[in-house]
Amino acid sequence: MEEVKIILLGDSGVGKTSLITRFISDDDDSFARKNSAPRSSQFDPDVKAKEVEINGITIKAHFHDSPGKDTSYSSHSIAPNFYRNADAVILVYSVNDQHTLEALQDCFVTEYATYADISATSWIIVGNKNDLPLDIEKSVLDDLSRCLGKSVALFASAKTGKNVKEVLHIAVKKAHERRKQKEGTFNLKEERQSNRGGQGGCCGRR
Ligand code: GDP
Ligand code: MG
Repeated sequence: MEEVKIILLGDSGVGKTSLITRFISDDDDSFARKNSAPRSSQFDPDVKAKEVEINGITIKAHFHDSPGKDTSYSSHSIAPNFYRNADAVILVYSVNDQHTLEALQDCFVTEYATYADISATSWIIVGNKNDLPLDIEKSVLDDLSRCLGKSVALFASAKTGKNVKEVLHIAVKKAHERRKQKEGTFNLKEERQSNRGGQGGCCGRR
């Protein structure tokens, strides 16, 4: 089965775990259950997987949840692995908190760039808590999009469930496209290598 790795970044409290829990469990009770469960319970895991069908292909998406700025992975040895080979990154902020939007560029994208190439992944920017009044400056969102090159900006509410499925489907689709693109580039490199008639190769592959 085809698989993709998707990581979630954003301040603590913006709703990353709630979005994933809602998407994975696919029911209306998940939000209440997650929020009544202790934070370290089974409802607050680091990696969760779900099989998603995109254009007739079943893709197993692995969502790597992060604990947020306060407990940044940068101070731990797992940092490189967390960022490595992400096919898509979902940046989450709260639509009622401008600081969480600013933190995406100032903190999370900056940190990401120290471990991985910004242009080698797909970026999805999600304004969560869209059930609350909007209180962000659009120019900050525009600056962030510009800095990422190609990205999609969407809104969702893990509380009401509105747009959660749509947003995560788009993330899986973008991740899959990115994965295919990377594999294509890899195959092309291999082909070029073999067309050289084995010159300079160390593995003897033809
Ligand atoms: P995380 O730290 O980014 O994983 O955030 P959590 O998923 O733990 O959520 C933090 C808090 O925000 C919890 O108290 C949730 O109830 C609340 N929350 C999450 N999503 C929403 C949402 O869409 N709307 C509202 N109003 N609250 C939300
Ligand atoms: Mg969380």
